[in-house]
Amino acid sequence: MMCCICRRDARGWGFAPELIGIRAPAVKQCSQRCQDITGKFKGMIDPNKHETNALAAAGISGGAFVEEIGKTDLASWTEQEWATLVDVIVTSFQDFLRQAYADDPPI
Ligand SMILES: [Zn+2]
Repeated sequence: MMCCICRRDARGWGFAPELIGIRAPAVKQCSQRCQDITGKFKGMIDPNKHETNALAAAGISGGAFVEEIGKTDLASWTEQEWATLVDVIVTSFQDFLRQAYADDPPI
């Protein structure tokens, strides 16, 4: 299961909105930090502005990698090129999200 905030592996933290009277599914987190963020959102996990912006940033990073290798036909990609693209996108998403929460934490 993934952390509902940063999408890393969940590691034992959780948040059950029903315990505070909110009908929403229970979610898991990777750390106390991400659990605190979840609590501030009261467990609501719809995409927020940080997640939407993180997806956009990840898309830009992925696009830059594609331009760097100069191959747009996915069928011609090596397994390593594909793995690197996924890594670039996921790492960019996570880095952007962590920085966005650090710069503009939920109230
Ligand atoms: Zn997390």
